[in-house]
Amino acid sequence: MHILIRCPACPASLPVSAAEGPAAIRCGRCGREIRLAFSEAVREDRAVDRCPVCSGADFYVRKDFNPRVGLGVVIAGALVSAAFYWTGRDLVAYGILASAALIDLVVYGRLKDLTVCYRCHSEFRGAYQRRADAFDLHTADILEMEYERKVGRR
Ligand SMILES: [Zn+2]
Ligand SMILES: [Zn+2]
Repeated sequence: MHILIRCPACPASLPVSAAEGPAAIRCGRCGREIRLAFSEAVREDRAVDRCPVCSGADFYVRKDFNPRVGLGVVIAGALVSAAFYWTGRDLVAYGILASAALIDLVVYGRLKDLTVCYRCHSEFRGAYQRRADAFDLHTADILEMEYERKVGRR
């Protein structure tokens, strides 16, 4: 399992391999030491049960989605179809627009889910079984505030 840790002190993201299970990492950007405590399930890529960064047990699942890729396809499709529309071949234009939307849908459908920690926003990628629910704003509000108070950001 690969984990992307958000540094609590600066905007850096720090990749960590759970199999190696380091006891601590140092942020390459601000030098802050982040202590890690891996559970057995995380280390063995079986499940995300406890966050190694903040010890929280509340997670949500979202698509591993890069919005820029999807947007690029739609914009390219719109530009090309606008050119055809301009030259009076509007059926071709609609066809291109439709296929751009279709490509987007296919790309989106093939994306894998990843698990995110509500408190510290660490991201967990791996072959483990997804068990968390979808994102809930109310839960996020409460847990984020709790975490930020803990790391001294508020
Ligand atoms: Zn940092
Ligand atoms: Zn966490």
